[in-house]
Amino acid sequence: MTRPEAGRRDRLRAAAAVAGLDAVLVTDLLNVRYLTGFTGSNGALLLGTDGGSAGSGDLFGTDGRYTTQAGTQVPDVELLVDRATMPALARAARTGGATRLGFESHVVTVDELRGLERLLGEDGAAVELVSIRRAVEALRAVKDDGEIEALRRACAVADAALAELAAEGALRPGRTELQVGRELDARMLALGAEAPSFETIVAAGANSAIPHHRPDSTELTEGDFLKLDFGATVDGYHSDMTRTLVLGHAADWQREVYELVAAAQAAGRAALAVGAEVTAVDAAARDVIVAAGHGEHFTHGLGHGVGLEIHEAPGISALGAGTLAAGMAVTVEPGVYLPGHGGVRIEDTLIVTDDEPELLTLTSKELLVL
Ligand code: ZN
Ligand code: ZN
Repeated sequence: MTRPEAGRRDRLRAAAAVAGLDAVLVTDLLNVRYLTGFTGSNGALLLGTDGGSAGSGDLFGTDGRYTTQAGTQVPDVELLVDRATMPALARAARTGGATRLGFESHVVTVDELRGLERLLGEDGAAVELVSIRRAVEALRAVKDDGEIEALRRACAVADAALAELAAEGALRPGRTELQVGRELDARMLALGAEAPSFETIVAAGANSAIPHHRPDSTELTEGDFLKLDFGATVDGYHSDMTRTLVLGHAADWQREVYELVAAAQAAGRAALAVGAEVTAVDAAARDVIVAAGHGEHFTHGLGHGVGLEIHEAPGISALGAGTLAAGMAVTVEPGVYLPGHGGVRIEDTLIVTDDEPELLTLTSKELLVL
């Protein structure tokens, strides 16, 4: 059976061949994981573009600590064990006769680049280094079935963790943001997450007006907003969800802000379609908030891609570029933040499809009053 990683390498191979590259050196660890399945802390891939039989010219490099793991996780790529992984793979490219070698210019440091240039210029061998920019990240933006299944499970863990906490009465006045955050994290781990997707955000009362408030000893208080932004990592894939609740009785201003953000979020979700410009998706939600006079209180982009990283391509904002494609996993997360008072953000993770987007974070978006 062909592993999905082999198909991903072939797609990168095809793009590299079109760009006139003989080989590509992939050194970003998550990109290496995506293309090979390797999860260790040191690994790189040299991808040949000759075509031919699958894997021809490909070389996976790692150090001696990972020889066994590489054999299990990367059974279909020839292995090169060397402590200085990147130079060793570059040398192999030169020996193989490469004259144009692609590399990830957003990952390789200046020192590493100088080392590569020196090494590739030795003996008068002229190997040109050519940036592939974020070619692998662009491939990663469109998820395959296995990745979407991992994202579904990651979102399900987050949904279940919040439901359990709410059912147990753990979100009640007197408890601190830190306590709630730790319990949410522990619950996600107990439900099968490898780790939280990122530092869980628990923001009570006026803190909810701070988009990325870090939980502290602030106590949950009757009548306050409680904003929770969190996610679980399952098989390396991240989920991302924000819900804002009210403790006790919701005041009119709270309902007003909540309904506005909910309407904007629904508009953003409805705009998720194959071929839609990311700027248009952002505008669909933002226009609702601007029309209500709160434009300056929505201080960030509408959403982002999720996958092996919590924030990845595509960015959905007024400054973004490009269009959506089927299989992209994205968030839609508008917010309205009233400094000193409180704020609301509602965030879902969804999959763009040829039809309606598939909603992965299933927790209700009705204003939950606990
Ligand atoms: Zn989030
Ligand atoms: Zn997010």
